Amino acid sequence: MRLSRYFLPVLKETPAEAQIVSHRLMLRAGMIKQSAAGIYSWLPLGFKVLRKIENIVHEEQIRAGHIPMQMPTLQSADLWRESGRYDAYGEEMLRITDRHDRDMLYTPTAEELITDIFRSNVSSYKDLPLTMYQIQWKFRDEIRPRFGVMRGREFYMKDGYNFDLSKEDALHAYNRHLVSYLRTYERMGLQAIPMRADSGPIGGDDTHEFLVLAETGESEVFYDSAVTDLTFGDREIDYDSVDQCQAIMEEFTTKYARTDETHDEAVFNEVPEERRRTARGIEVGQIFYFGTKYSDAMGATVQDADGKKVPVHMGSHGIGVSRLLGAIIEASHDENGIIWPEGVTPFHAGIVNLKQGDAEADAACEALEKALIAAGLEPLYDDRKERAGGKFATMDLIGLPWRITVGPRGLKNGVVELTSRRTGESEEMAPEAAVAKLI
Ligand code: ATP
Ligand code: MG
Ligand code: MG
Ligand code: MG
Repeated sequence: MRLSRYFLPVLKETPAEAQIVSHRLMLRAGMIKQSAAGIYSWLPLGFKVLRKIENIVHEEQIRAGHIPMQMPTLQSADLWRESGRYDAYGEEMLRITDRHDRDMLYTPTAEELITDIFRSNVSSYKDLPLTMYQIQWKFRDEIRPRFGVMRGREFYMKDGYNFDLSKEDALHAYNRHLVSYLRTYERMGLQAIPMRADSGPIGGDDTHEFLVLAETGESEVFYDSAVTDLTFGDREIDYDSVDQCQAIMEEFTTKYARTDETHDEAVFNEVPEERRRTARGIEVGQIFYFGTKYSDAMGATVQDADGKKVPVHMGSHGIGVSRLLGAIIEASHDENGIIWPEGVTPFHAGIVNLKQGDAEADAACEALEKALIAAGLEPLYDDRKERAGGKFATMDLIGLPWRITVGPRGLKNGVVELTSRRTGESEEMAPEAAVAKLI
């Protein structure tokens, strides 16, 4: 991509309305634009990162054996009356009336709709286990939308639902989600710690939230510092293995880690004092097992092996896809701007031409751009007629992991400069060597 042809409305001023660094940087880097309170347009750079995050979520869900599908954003109120949540959900639900005076709503979550799809199509235990998920826009009329995409009213969420014959099977689905989430967040360069949580309006007994530690987080959390040493890494996992999934769940959830709703001072005090931590965290996902809450209310049953009709055991599992952009930036930035982890960066490298219009510099930049594209990477070539300082500031702000600086002086010696955004270290090398280093 050539910057001169792209749409990157970078802001020079720090927007006054933004209270936290991720919101400020997303506005300054031209990633989002607010259209109404808590509702945003995703400008090209922000949209690109959103898609990268979405793709990682898809890949890890499919790897875990979960099936992608899509449900509508607008739903009829009828199903929600059946479950009893139409009244219970309260002011966060955006209620809409159509021209025939039918009650509709913009989906804040989709347990009812998926349960209806299930009960209309599945009647035998032989069709279980089943887990389907979607990545879809949600709307919650938050009382205080703030912090940009972190607490929007319209937001993008992955929501998955498992249907199982027994509690045992449903807990395997729960553990499978836990493992797939660990992998998902690590691929985004994030540490998200599963913490025992409260189930809120979804209901249920077993639930963990995944929290990214950050001072700007809205949740208060209490944990044993030993949990921060745990990483999933590149272990092989057989998602069909009940024992393997359970072992990983236990490894990651046995040490003390809870949000304030479930915090228990007496149990916390059993953690050695030097390892007790109180901090703030950003909730980037949550998993639930809620048994037969919805299947009982909505008659989602199957015939078991003895021909008896039994309600299915269910759970639901969410990831805040759009919130993750904010969380990643909170966790990875410096005073000059964003520092994207490689897994989610909108472009892999920026090419900065120090002397646009110089035939040799232009040719070298174009050759680099071609070579990177041929290697399967996406470069962003700053081909504008601007001063070097301005170009560097833009690259630092938008946070691409690598910058290749090309100028007539270096080219005389056959070199360009490769700079790491994270360490700030620069190295001179032949253009081919720079390309080789990025592959
Ligand atoms: P919160 O406690 O932050 O209000 P929640 O517990 O109500 O979130 P869930 O119902 O668990 O949210 O939804 C799954 C995920 O969707 C959350 O873990 C979070 O990452 C994301 N999410 C929830 N509400 C919002 C929002 N208003 N804006 C952006 N992301 C959100
Ligand atoms: Mg909420
Ligand atoms: Mg919550
Ligand atoms: Mg939650």
